[in-house]
Amino acid sequence: MPPRDVRRAVRTGAIITMASVFFSFFPVWVWLQIDPVIRLQDIYISCIVIPALIAPTCSFFILRAQIRAQRLAEENHRLANHDELTGLPNRRAFFAQAGSLHSRSHRSTDIFACALADIDNFKCINDTHGHDRGDRVLKMLAAALADLSADNVVLARLGGEEFAVAGMFASEAAARIWLEALVREVEHRHPAGLPVTISLGWCVAEAGETLSSQLSRADHALYDAKARGKNRAVKARLDGARVVAAA
Ligand code: GH3
Ligand code: MG
Ligand code: MG
Repeated sequence: MPPRDVRRAVRTGAIITMASVFFSFFPVWVWLQIDPVIRLQDIYISCIVIPALIAPTCSFFILRAQIRAQRLAEENHRLANHDELTGLPNRRAFFAQAGSLHSRSHRSTDIFACALADIDNFKCINDTHGHDRGDRVLKMLAAALADLSADNVVLARLGGEEFAVAGMFASEAAARIWLEALVREVEHRHPAGLPVTISLGWCVAEAGETLSSQLSRADHALYDAKARGKNRAVKARLDGARVVAAA
């Protein structure tokens, strides 16, 4: 099936052609009713000059309206699915994209892993350097994370200073290596010129487990990563319980 914009262009072209044929023959027909003797020159005017003026004018307005509608739809889609500050996918887009990756992983030998990452001591960064600098840290960290992202990996800002990652990996070891490398890379990037670290909790999907249950286990593991001193990735336990007891 041809893409949507090609089908739309063909439909618009057909409508414009039908309209121009109608508008070229209708005046001739009316003319014939009024004055049955038409000169050749009059037929040229009615069937060539008039449609040549009408068709481009009609197509210009119709296509302009279509392009405007398409741009608005794209802008709507962008606003609904992206975080305004960082430009990363938002929570809604994360659940949609991670959900489809999760389904794909059932038909593949790859495993599905998801993670929650949170900036360490971000309140302190805001308090010391100001909220605007904090915003710049978020933007630059998001850009670094997007830069480090890989095929079959979804990365999103869930809100505040919390990010989510989900992806298909060849094995649990591959997921571990990739996620630990992510934490190490952030440590070396110095977004907005500041030493910034993240803590990350992650888990591997169990058979039949929902995405929200995985995220809840990843959240407990994130808590453990914070409790163990931050700036690290911790894998969740299968039962979702915290490894480190809550204070
Ligand atoms: P921890 O290492 O335990 O995660 O400590 P933390 O200071 O990072 O965590 P806490 O939850 O105490 O503080 C999070 C801070 O993130 C508080 C809030 O002001 C800040 N924050 C949330 N969203 C934004 C934002 O969009 N921009 C900025 N600049 N700050 C934000
Ligand atoms: Mg937080
Ligand atoms: Mg934090």
